[in-house]
Amino acid sequence: MKPPPPPLVDAHLDLAHNALEAGFDLTLPLEELRRRYPQGDVPTVTLPALVEAGAALVFATLFASPYHPEHNPEGYTTPDEAHAQALRQLELYRRWHEEGRVRLITTRAELDGHLKAWEGDGVPGLLILMEGADPIRTPDELGFWADAGVRLVGPAWGGTRYAGGSWFGTGGLTELGRELMAALQDEPRVALDASHLSEPSFWEALELYDGPLLASHSNPRRFVDHERHLSEAMISALGERGGVIGTVFYNAFLVAGWQRGDARPGLEAALRHMAHVAELIGWEHVGIGSDFDGGFGARELPEPLDQPADLRRLEEALPAGVFPGVLGGHWLAWLRRWLP
Ligand SMILES: [Zn+2]
Repeated sequence: MKPPPPPLVDAHLDLAHNALEAGFDLTLPLEELRRRYPQGDVPTVTLPALVEAGAALVFATLFASPYHPEHNPEGYTTPDEAHAQALRQLELYRRWHEEGRVRLITTRAELDGHLKAWEGDGVPGLLILMEGADPIRTPDELGFWADAGVRLVGPAWGGTRYAGGSWFGTGGLTELGRELMAALQDEPRVALDASHLSEPSFWEALELYDGPLLASHSNPRRFVDHERHLSEAMISALGERGGVIGTVFYNAFLVAGWQRGDARPGLEAALRHMAHVAELIGWEHVGIGSDFDGGFGARELPEPLDQPADLRRLEEALPAGVFPGVLGGHWLAWLRRWLP
């Protein structure tokens, strides 16, 4: 029997959002889903594709999408609507768990048991990440979501009721946001995801909260100067606090000014982001948060990435010895330090 491949951990996929809002049947093989979907290359992830990739663990989001008159007329406009969207997504993850398609992970013991089982059956584990905290109707509801299995919370996406974010309003934490930080501080089962926090929110959050910290899907601002990305000081702070940063493989986040239709860059475009973070805070803080299914298609990923299995091509490109850690080992070590 050949040894299992090193586990892939992807710290950011919007699986339930894609299934429920985009209507993708993620239980299909990827080729089949692409045949059914007229735009062809947009689905880049399905559950069978994750099995094929050797994805041991995915941070799977509850992503309630806010109303926007052009981009999202169906989005939420109230905390109750955001709450309901996130619950529907959670229900889907639970159904997949019951059907044996995934294993939901909420504790260190479950993680260890899962990884042993994964070596035999390849079933991906899911750790639930709330991206944008509006589904938490009030900060005292954090415990409800922790009971429900949420282990990671990112207060912002665009600006939310809690925090300035990457788009549509970029202030600092709101009064409610400061209360949420206090609630997170008192809730050891949930870590803070700094991705999408505006820079003022980021620094305020770190003042108020000293628990486990990550940036599930963020690249350095060094090569693409936009508030969505991390400044050198933010990267250093994440490193000092023991955080791991998931690299996003989206061309517009890798190459300044890149637009759909431009030639696809090669993997080196992603590697320079990883190497820059490593230079600042060390390779042990570098992981993957691919965001492959963040609404763009394979043509918007660097060559030769077309689906999750291709992330293993990083082995040819990374410095010797760091591949297993970057592929998943660093996230697993981080989780083992704090998961309940
Ligand atoms: Zn995101």
